[in-house]
Amino acid sequence: MSLALDLKSRDVDFLLLEAGDGHIDHPKVGTVGPRSMEFFRGWGLANRIRKAGWPDDHPLDIAWVTAVGGHEIYRIEFGTTGMRLPPDHTPEPEQVCPQHWLMPLLTESLGTHPDGPVRLRWRVDEIDQHDDGVTVTATVGDTGEVATVTAAYVVACDGANSPIRKRCGVPVRSHHRTQVFRNILFRAPRLRAQLGESAALVYFLTSPTMLRYPLRSMDGEALYRLTASGQDASAMRDAEELVRAAIALDTPVRVLSDATWHLTHRVAERYRTGRVLFAGDAAHTLSPSGGFGMNTGIADAANLGWKLAAVLAGWAGPGLLDSYEAERMPVAVASLEQSNHNLRRTLRRELSPSIMLDNADGAAARSSLAAQLESGGVRREFDAPDIHFGYRYRSTLIVDDPTEKDTETWSTSALPGGRAPHVWIHPGMSTLDLFGRGFVLLSFQSSPNTERLQQAFAEYQIPLAICEIDQADVAQNYGRPHVVVRPDGHVAWRGTDLPVNPETLANRVRGG
Ligand SMILES: Cc1cc2nc3c(=O)[nH]c(=O)nc-3n(C[C@H](O)[C@H](O)[C@H](O)COP(=O)(O)OP(=O)(O)OC[C@H]3O[C@@H](n4cnc5c(N)ncnc54)[C@H](O)[C@@H]3O)c2cc1C
Repeated sequence: MSLALDLKSRDVDFLLLEAGDGHIDHPKVGTVGPRSMEFFRGWGLANRIRKAGWPDDHPLDIAWVTAVGGHEIYRIEFGTTGMRLPPDHTPEPEQVCPQHWLMPLLTESLGTHPDGPVRLRWRVDEIDQHDDGVTVTATVGDTGEVATVTAAYVVACDGANSPIRKRCGVPVRSHHRTQVFRNILFRAPRLRAQLGESAALVYFLTSPTMLRYPLRSMDGEALYRLTASGQDASAMRDAEELVRAAIALDTPVRVLSDATWHLTHRVAERYRTGRVLFAGDAAHTLSPSGGFGMNTGIADAANLGWKLAAVLAGWAGPGLLDSYEAERMPVAVASLEQSNHNLRRTLRRELSPSIMLDNADGAAARSSLAAQLESGGVRREFDAPDIHFGYRYRSTLIVDDPTEKDTETWSTSALPGGRAPHVWIHPGMSTLDLFGRGFVLLSFQSSPNTERLQQAFAEYQIPLAICEIDQADVAQNYGRPHVVVRPDGHVAWRGTDLPVNPETLANRVRGG
């Protein structure tokens, strides 16, 4: 869906074939991360996602508890959507918007057949690459009607099992052990009111014998999701029994669904084979601990969309499409390792058998765990701007800055390969709003060579906008008088003077 939004913003002619009917019964994703929200801002959807339904006054806190409504051990406070202070580094903080709200919203904004490019209930069965295109065979709806579509490229965004990736014979490498979990979705209509001030977004359970994973509020009202391990699932098979064990209060509950899933840490060995590319879970699956999974896929889409558009428009160099794998695969591996680190932190936690007791021993065990959590880096699982924003692309498209200083970090400067920083230009308008369609040259100092750079880009037909900015805080954040930013908002080049050979730079950023 994100790739479709990006392609649509670039006027690319495409179809999106989706086997499902557009509805999500059992939402996996709960929160849209801040970098993804920035992309949605660019695609014109951030405000709709913010208004999708999450209550402005519901706490976004993470609480470690013996059971929901039982003893609270530790809490990380994040305020509420309505009251939190926006961070300096982004105009778009993360937003709770579970998948059963997000997917229909994205589908509607793209449009379904006959008004839009989305074909729901089209299941891709076969894929056949030839010299000048790819032919896809799909089964449509319940009728069994078979349809074929021929396209210049196919991007397989068909999830962790990716039938298309398998058909293309691209193996995946598993980085860590697979584990089995169970997600139980349930309604508890009175729980929010019963919890009052002690409500949180996520409750980390701390039972020493079972249930040590999150129970989270999905919609801020009555819908919740409990994650249990495969072990918990076999010890207590009944879903309602597990939910009741996780909640200390007497409250009505109704189980809606109960799904077993495999937590895998896998990255495809290639992101491209000929005219077929892989994105999202088809390319990588990460542990949900950290909430990077969908966000990594959305950033794949933002990286790939402009490259495909450039190829189709005829200004891409021969290396542009291959740079997708070179740039995105290392990010998937790094996010996978961070997610696994978060998961191991939870798995390795030693929980005292007395932690559930309502006596002095229980209180001592709980304060010891609280001290452990305080010093154990648990916040990183929920607040990791360096993972969401800090990665830098290191491909042949990116020109290193030889004068880069070790002290520079992602949040303070426009390091080549990194995300160009956000600074407010005026209320409501961020530097990020300047990027999106073509390349942008940000100049904080006039240069006689600007026209030459413009000509060099024009010779390759690369879209380039020149943006002269006379604002000290923006200049300071960007660190050099001239910065070239790509259509995906990443810095391609920066320098004190515009290059003497602008043709070399223009050719390089287009993958020449
Ligand atoms: C419990 C859990 C919690 C998570 N929480 C978060 C979170 O908070 N934040 C986060 O960023 N990530 C989270 N994730 C990860 C996230 O759910 C995935 O990374 C994300 O959904 C992947 O999106 P995708 O579009 O690549 O794949 P999917 O969401 O799997 O979508 C693939 C689509 O392809 C369709 N399809 C499959 N085969 C075909 C075919 N042959 N023809 C046509 N269509 C086909 C399917 O119907 C499906 O709609 C979580 C994952 C789990 C398991």
